[in-house]
Amino acid sequence: MKYDTNQLEINKVQKSKIEEVNFDNLVFGEIFTDHMFECDYDNGQWQTPKIRPYGSIEMDPSAKVFHYGQAVFEGMKAYKDEDDQIWLFRPEENFKRINKSSARLAIPEFPKEFFFSGLEELLKLDKAWIKKGFGNSLYIRPFVIATEEGVSANPSTKYKFMIICSPAQAYYSGEVRVQFSEKYSRAANGGVGAAKAAGNYAAQFYPTNLAKEAGFQQIIWTDANTHEFLEEAGTMNIFFRIGDKLITAPTSDRILDGVTRKSVIDLAKDLNIEVEIRKVKVSEIVEAARNGELKEIFGSGTATVINPISGFGYKDEKFELPELEDSYGKSFKDQLMKIQYNQAEDRHGWRYLIK
Ligand SMILES: *Cc1c(COP(=O)(O)O)cnc(C)c1O
Repeated sequence: MKYDTNQLEINKVQKSKIEEVNFDNLVFGEIFTDHMFECDYDNGQWQTPKIRPYGSIEMDPSAKVFHYGQAVFEGMKAYKDEDDQIWLFRPEENFKRINKSSARLAIPEFPKEFFFSGLEELLKLDKAWIKKGFGNSLYIRPFVIATEEGVSANPSTKYKFMIICSPAQAYYSGEVRVQFSEKYSRAANGGVGAAKAAGNYAAQFYPTNLAKEAGFQQIIWTDANTHEFLEEAGTMNIFFRIGDKLITAPTSDRILDGVTRKSVIDLAKDLNIEVEIRKVKVSEIVEAARNGELKEIFGSGTATVINPISGFGYKDEKFELPELEDSYGKSFKDQLMKIQYNQAEDRHGWRYLIK
């Protein structure tokens, strides 16, 4: 079916609340822009999409999302360059992925025309919220929830697709030490690990709290069967550097196919850095840490781009990683950000201009 993008309804705020926001002191994901995008699914099709003032939505307490967690989301960012042009980074990938996540959760796919026209109009309306400067961005959160009333455990016949946006500053996570999981799992074969399904994140909170009590900020999840292979962190894919070689786990139905991960692999190839995409044994990383060959571990994801990891714990042992002069992670972060902010050549065609 063809969706007509001219039918987007726009209802603007009377007065922007931007004056009330201190852009020098933003906590990630706490403040939202003036407008939001909303589109309901009913009677077997997506209805007229709308942009309206950011605010509460009303739902029946029996709506299926509250009971069965039928919900998926995405995370992307918009950047402003020195000439006030607004850019997205590989948004096509996020669009494809939200529909892939939706398919796995029995949610109807969202039309591409609506996704892009809604996103672009929303960004144009709220462009004052995207601040210039390396590190400033607008975090974009598209999501879909099951809104049908009734607690029978069936897929909903009604959904709401929304996009909300939150201004973000460069994110310094401080020192991140991770624990290699020995007991808990985030995903299993045949499960929903490869989908950005809301419930995947709720399931990580409790084990992550335990890891925090033990002095770690995050968990690196291992395979559910044997806990012998390192897979990914809760919101980041993970890279290991042994000597001058990068190693990362292959994506699977347990591992999220990160856009940043893919981009890092491509950049590494451009730089002739050897990348092995294969299963990563916990024991080989522990051994490489012991004999000094493990140079760095970093996470990749839209929120932080690259997140260096300063140490890890496994069983009762803790390992610290060296501070590197020639860190791969730092170099990838710098290169990716330069592409995102239109300060470097875009050899792979990753930038997307909001016109
Ligand atoms: C979103 C996410 C990532 C990172 O994906 P990007 O597309 O790079 O932002 C990695 N792992 C999980 C579990 C995620 O939810």
